[in-house]
Amino acid sequence: MTRHTSTCQNRGVEETETNEIRARFAPSPTGHLHVGVARTAILNWLFVRHHKGKFILRVEDTDQARSSRESEMKIIEDLRQLGTDWDEGPDIGGQFGPYRQTERLDMYREVAETLLKKGAAYRCFLSQEEVDSRREQALASGESTILRSPYRDALEEVWQEKLAAGEVPTIRLKVPDYLEEVVFNDLIKGEIRFKAETIPEFVMLRANQTPSYNFAVSVDDALMKISHVIRGDDHLTNTPKQILVYRAMGVESPLFAHIPMILGADRSKLSKRHGSVSVGQFMEEGYLPQALVNFLSLLSWSSESKEEILSMDRLIDEIDLDRISSSAAIFDRSKLGWMNGQYIRGMDEEDFIRSALPFLKKAGRPADDSEITRKILLSIQSKIETLQQIDHHVSVFYDDDTTPDSDADAIAQTEESQRIYRAFVEEAGKVDLLDLKGFRSVMKNVQKKSGVKGKHLWMPIRVGLTGKTQGPDLPIIIETLGKEHCIKRVRRFIQQEIS
Ligand code: GLU
Repeated sequence: MTRHTSTCQNRGVEETETNEIRARFAPSPTGHLHVGVARTAILNWLFVRHHKGKFILRVEDTDQARSSRESEMKIIEDLRQLGTDWDEGPDIGGQFGPYRQTERLDMYREVAETLLKKGAAYRCFLSQEEVDSRREQALASGESTILRSPYRDALEEVWQEKLAAGEVPTIRLKVPDYLEEVVFNDLIKGEIRFKAETIPEFVMLRANQTPSYNFAVSVDDALMKISHVIRGDDHLTNTPKQILVYRAMGVESPLFAHIPMILGADRSKLSKRHGSVSVGQFMEEGYLPQALVNFLSLLSWSSESKEEILSMDRLIDEIDLDRISSSAAIFDRSKLGWMNGQYIRGMDEEDFIRSALPFLKKAGRPADDSEITRKILLSIQSKIETLQQIDHHVSVFYDDDTTPDSDADAIAQTEESQRIYRAFVEEAGKVDLLDLKGFRSVMKNVQKKSGVKGKHLWMPIRVGLTGKTQGPDLPIIIETLGKEHCIKRVRRFIQQEIS
């Protein structure tokens, strides 16, 4: 018998240029949008927009016990917040819908039926227990655990009899006898080969008439005319199974690009153990959608310019699957923080205030868009990496009795600082209003009285007013605190004189 290789000759993007580029993002709505999955969505989206193709959102909800509409809605909301949009999807419909797998069950059944008729699939009457026990036996005897069902080549009478007796079979894909290997050219990983005997004759349609993941995905990608499947490389071993379904259906395989995993700093798969992992969580912590998109896009790819802050338009312009690295990417949280800080600094005043106010409110501060609130927020815009850090940075404006930092406390305790504080309380008490003008005149007198000037004067004053050696500029602090609070704050550092 002649043995064949199923080669899925991958054309490059250029060769598909005459046909439309169609890529899809196919989340399973079983929870939140993980940043790794979001990165897959973003790369697909950038790729499609670069090639002026169509981006399809398909909801893979066949695992009904774990899927929920709530999760689907949240995923859609997060994708929108990230700035991605799609041309076809469950919420907007399209030519190849429906776009939820549970609404496509008839299609899977129909294709399974056709493949049975063609002899590319077979009815299998093994129960799950029988499958498991065959596996155990194979393991015990050191044989291949790839199932060879006794029903694979059964005579028609055998399965007709079973059907007549009311037994409900699963439908398994047949790996053709003459097939030696499945070869495809991954756009990121290069040529990949799978020996035919390592590819299981997997269940396409379960006894309850629902499709397995590998079957539903292939049928959908074929019927939705997907040209490029760009997904995580955890799906690599599914690909030969899917190629065999396309082949059985008599359609051309899409092109595959398997993008590398994202790992935590310890090089294990990025998970909750490493901190936040969902897009929703990152946004709640005050990461900006544009910064997340920028950061996630660059996890396994870089701009030829070596620049790292790239607008959406530039990302679309520069994305290139050829430049995606095939090795795992490390999720570097400090780099994300840095990048988010850059985006926060780059926001115009109105944008920043609008984004910052909800975080001020969450921190339990008056979030009223008044002149003073705006000033407070703008004074820390360049100091924060996430909007959530607003809470920590504004405390200096609102709390009179925070515990001073230890280095600040050491400064406050010196004899020189004590002299400054006594003079300050006395002089500030004399002015009606401790506005900027009043403050300047008070400080002139404090300088005279204490005999201290320059940074030796200003640092103790900063410490006295804020309990910290660093922070927003003093004028904005004075302006927001007013006379009573300034005196109260400085007074608490004054040690009782022992007479
Ligand atoms: N629904 C699959 C997942 O969430 C994606 C399938 C695919 O991209 O082929 O992992």
